Amino acid sequence: VDELVDAARGSGVGDAAAATRVEPWPNDPYPAGSGVDGRYATLRALLAGELDADDIVATLKDSGLRGMGGAGFPTGQKWSLVRGAQPGTTKYAIVNADESEPGTFKDRQILAQQPHLVLEGLLLGMAVVGAEEGWVFIRHEYGPEEHVLREEIDALRAAGVVGPDACGSGRRLNIDIFVSPGGYILGEETALLECMEGHRGEPRNKPPFPGNYGLHGRPTLINSVETFADVPVIVQRGAQWWKDQGVGDSVGWKFFAVSGHVERPDVYCVPMGTTVRELIDLAGGVTGGAEVGAVQPGGASSNFIGPDQLDLRLDFGTAAEAGTMLGSGALVVLAEGTDLLAASTNVLRFFRNESCGKCVPCRVGSTKAHELLRGVIESGSSTLDETQRGRILQLEEAMRKTSICGLGQVALGPVVSVLGIDKGGAAARDQPRPNGSAAQPDR
Ligand code: NAD
Ligand code: SF4
Repeated sequence: VDELVDAARGSGVGDAAAATRVEPWPNDPYPAGSGVDGRYATLRALLAGELDADDIVATLKDSGLRGMGGAGFPTGQKWSLVRGAQPGTTKYAIVNADESEPGTFKDRQILAQQPHLVLEGLLLGMAVVGAEEGWVFIRHEYGPEEHVLREEIDALRAAGVVGPDACGSGRRLNIDIFVSPGGYILGEETALLECMEGHRGEPRNKPPFPGNYGLHGRPTLINSVETFADVPVIVQRGAQWWKDQGVGDSVGWKFFAVSGHVERPDVYCVPMGTTVRELIDLAGGVTGGAEVGAVQPGGASSNFIGPDQLDLRLDFGTAAEAGTMLGSGALVVLAEGTDLLAASTNVLRFFRNESCGKCVPCRVGSTKAHELLRGVIESGSSTLDETQRGRILQLEEAMRKTSICGLGQVALGPVVSVLGIDKGGAAARDQPRPNGSAAQPDR
């Protein structure tokens, strides 16, 4: 365990990025090596009454920070909503650390190297919304990171930063870890809540959103690891500082996990608005100097973009306008010559396997689509005829419009996107579908 923990903290994933990054990571306001006493300054100030909870919410709103788990919901708005929900009732806060999107491993690095920021963000969230209990819901394969977190929580308890009289404020703030029993779908926030309540881990219909109706039906603040880890620096340095870090209209820093056919797959923290090309260059370029064939900019759920879109700026709005999404911050690069239909079918197979089966469109649609595509690939082809293509587009539309949660809604998006790339790039991706609608998922 010690070796794994050391690797997670220092020398595992992150070696390549270490050569190019400023120490500590740019979202860390504390000097490297500070202990509990030298950190948690924002939390101490809030609990001492030197900072106002409403001002923190206002700063987050002004900063433009958005949820880094994938959907990009405005963080200040979420905190404001939970703060205002059902005054006087019990509330909860949860870090969603069930990072499981294929190609996504940036939260793992943040947990290992910045547990203090994740926990300070969580504790700030608890104090702001009025929660006394908070958890880190962590993926069960993240054993070394869980160990690092447990050590940090123990140190916080020993220093009296958390507990029945947090920082001597008279306020009770308790935090703990909930280890996921396993399964991709538990990272969906309402399936996560069902799991923590002891039920089968299936998503709920939304709305109501967890901010109003969360754990045990109480208002619950749920943010991802990266989102919580960005809060302390924003509160300390101000909204304008955060906004100044991006490129153009994009704001702040963004962690990306870069993988696939690149020379230095790793976690990189770059200004939001960095282009796909710049990020690939930072990762040493395509393996062996090959050309880019296609890129998934936001994890397995995101649509592939072609080599004609490498100057795309990586931020939520720009990615959506280009027909893909920033998603979980996982840039997967495929070299020219890679069979894109096979690669996207592999993504679909993952979603089919991980479908919880609660709703028919996802359960049956993903199976039918995978059978069709597997048949094509096993026949030795890498393209679909018009009938097969029409069938896939119909299944994609049905799943996108009628599945309960994001898994079913996006499962066939990557496949549809490579049909366009095969036929010559972005223009082909927008060609009419059987019902006349655009070929891209509209979320
Ligand atoms: P969503 O848009 O339903 O919700 C995003 C967040 O905003 C949630 O916390 C939700 O509660 C909140 N929210 C949305 N509308 C709200 C409203 N009107 N009022 C109050 N709160 C509101 O998206 P989602 O299904 O939770 O997440 C989908 C994303 O997750 C995808 O974009 C994908 O990239 C990402 N994802 C990430 C991973 C990973 O490992 N990090 C894995 C799978 C998917
Ligand atoms: Fe389960 Fe799929 Fe329905 Fe989501 S869309 S609830 S994963 S069956």
